[in-house]
Amino acid sequence: MSGVNSVDEATIRRTLDGIPAPRSGKGLLAAGWIGGISIAGAKVTVALEVDPAIGPAMELLKREVEVRLGAVPGIEQVTVVLSGKRASSQSQGAHQGHNHDHGHDHGQAHPPRKAQVGGAAAPGNVKLPLPGVRHIIAVASGKGGVGKSTTAANVALSLLGLGYKVGVLDSDIYGPSMQRVLGVSGKPDTTAQKKMVPKQAHGLKVMSMGFLVPEDTAMIWRGPMVMSAIQQLLREVDWGELDFLIVDMPPGTGDAQLTLAQTVPLAGAVIVSTPQDLALIDAARGVTMFNKVSVPVLGIVENMSTFICPNCQHETPIFGHGGARAEADRLGVRFLGEIPLDMAIRVTSDEGRPIVIDQPNGPHAAAYRAVAEGVVAVLESGGGKRPAPVIRME
Ligand code: ADP
Repeated sequence: MSGVNSVDEATIRRTLDGIPAPRSGKGLLAAGWIGGISIAGAKVTVALEVDPAIGPAMELLKREVEVRLGAVPGIEQVTVVLSGKRASSQSQGAHQGHNHDHGHDHGQAHPPRKAQVGGAAAPGNVKLPLPGVRHIIAVASGKGGVGKSTTAANVALSLLGLGYKVGVLDSDIYGPSMQRVLGVSGKPDTTAQKKMVPKQAHGLKVMSMGFLVPEDTAMIWRGPMVMSAIQQLLREVDWGELDFLIVDMPPGTGDAQLTLAQTVPLAGAVIVSTPQDLALIDAARGVTMFNKVSVPVLGIVENMSTFICPNCQHETPIFGHGGARAEADRLGVRFLGEIPLDMAIRVTSDEGRPIVIDQPNGPHAAAYRAVAEGVVAVLESGGGKRPAPVIRME
């Protein structure tokens, strides 16, 4: 539990346990339906681990948690994230008890079976396609801090500049950074069909966990909950028609990344690496990981390739430039291009105006555009159809 506790954790727990779980009728905590609680000042986030078998009733349960916690003095904002749980433990509880299958329905009439929650309704490693979205591309890195999010944002904007419809999903739920990089924040609106409306940033559609939970909330979720949250961000969002959905992956190549690569219907992955040996080893792990789950690696981008002096513009290969290209050759994947280490890239991306937008005619925008064109080319050569560019009317 973390944060400045203006709200008493015990009260939250008591309130949650005052809500009967479907079937067993035990309190939600006691029945094992609460996967995590995090408190940040007056904002509370609860992960509700639902049994997918209860179907649309899970939305009603979610609402009940929101209303009950919302009524607790001192709580100003409640976020409930649904996550799928294997039915076993919860239903075991039900069978061991009085088998109250019909006794604790809260008198709710079940709405028609259509509002299935993406992650929760699709447990296991099921790659359901995302209707309307033509290519989902993961941007990944073997470790944090190599510029994955900056690259993802600038490549997404470059694809947009090439005439495609593009969305960005920040799936780094532990440290979402797209709000900062793309300069967008706030809670998303909801459609009549209860789908979240992505935020707009520089023409991109953007969705991030950072829109839903307070920035200072320390996430204490376990792996399966993280996965379900990401599935919700993917599937409960009204993406509309997109040529590309760029998924900014969490850094690393652990289990979470592997599961993500297994459950999201990815067209391919772009791996971002710096030229240092260590980062390259991590990049190689990334390639291996995607190979393992049969996701094509579209190529490697070398970020912070050379250092551009902000005073004299002199270029210095401080990290031994060229390593990523050699590594790409060794691994048999395409080298998509190199992006220099330049103060202007950091400043613009930290101000929410990525360099592709801030200096569209500069050399860095051209470098990102080359990467975007490379991605399109690889998809084309791999049999993927090139989406028709959109003609914009001014
Ligand atoms: P990651 O997503 O891999 O953790 P970020 O994209 O958040 O990395 O980048 C980490 C930091 O490095 C940010 O402050 C970002 O502005 C900066 N950065 C990324 N790429 C470059 C670059 N090519 N030149 C200068 N700064 C960069």
